[in-house]
Amino acid sequence: LDPTNENFSPEELDVEKKLRPLSFDDFTGQDQVLENLQVFVQAANQRQEALDHTLFHGPPGLGKTTLAHILASELDVNIKVTSGPVLDKPGDLAGLLTNLEDRDVLFIDEIHRLSPIVEEYLYSAMEDYKIDIMIESGPNARTVQINLNPFTLVGATTRSGLLTAPMRARFGIQSRLQYYNTELLTTIVQRSASILNVPISMEAAVEIAGRSRGTPRIANALLRRVRDFAQIKGNGKIDIKIAKFGLEALHVDAHGLDEMDNKILATIIDKFKGGPVGLTTIATAVSESAETIEEVYEPFLIQQGFLMRTPRGREVTELAYKHLGKIKGNIQGG
Ligand code: ADP
Repeated sequence: LDPTNENFSPEELDVEKKLRPLSFDDFTGQDQVLENLQVFVQAANQRQEALDHTLFHGPPGLGKTTLAHILASELDVNIKVTSGPVLDKPGDLAGLLTNLEDRDVLFIDEIHRLSPIVEEYLYSAMEDYKIDIMIESGPNARTVQINLNPFTLVGATTRSGLLTAPMRARFGIQSRLQYYNTELLTTIVQRSASILNVPISMEAAVEIAGRSRGTPRIANALLRRVRDFAQIKGNGKIDIKIAKFGLEALHVDAHGLDEMDNKILATIIDKFKGGPVGLTTIATAVSESAETIEEVYEPFLIQQGFLMRTPRGREVTELAYKHLGKIKGNIQGG
């Protein structure tokens, strides 16, 4: 099992949907983001206008898609869902845009992966609610401009650094989602357990939460797997014993770090004496892009105290040595 793997089966996706909070009240954490959004939504509702275009950025699994759905529901409008890689022709986008009703939400996941042509096409739609469409073909081909209903584009990206400046500038609301602490994740695990109808002890919920890499999606995935262990190897209830047993069997790291997290730390220790070492050097050594390391892995490692950013590069902490069972000063491998 790789709980960070987003390629869930259809059944898993169904469960994930079931666990999705549906309203602001239902959503745990991200207080600052939520407080602001509530004001903006209320104001837009009062004026009966479309909400400003909204961009969510942050690592995967923190609730960007969930918030897009919540926005639509709090605005009392429809939501159309698509993603950057799927929209490869302006024509696809035109179809979606012309079908939006007044104030609807269009959610584009992985918006940093839009093709440049589609992105450019989106600009006038976002700015003036107008698009050009090509009618007829051959010698009669011409473009006509058509008006769209005012709508809200909600974009989500894990890699804000890859978004072009003109694109970013068109979002009136921009929110960065943060990793969740264990307390918040415990609440989320308890909520999910109650939706899944499985009894769970406080201690077990804390244990699962603490190993979830600060990420609700991972917390929910681990909960579902531990539920299987409770059902088959236990009495159906999740107590601390079965939770620990399940997490052990799944080889879940004690701090919830994933393979790449550990690889980054181990590489800095083994190949670069613990650092400081530059980001691009690390990236090459672990075969991952520097942007992904900087935007997806590093924030969590820093927040958890495994890694430090210094003027001379990245440096692991004592905690990282301890976590990986390595001794400072020992250089292994090459
Ligand atoms: P993202 O779009 O950022 O990758 P999602 O919105 O798809 O993340 O969230 C992944 C899963 O985590 C969802 O199914 C949802 O059940 C759960 N989740 C995310 N944020 C929260 C939250 N604040 N409270 C409860 N569950 C959450």
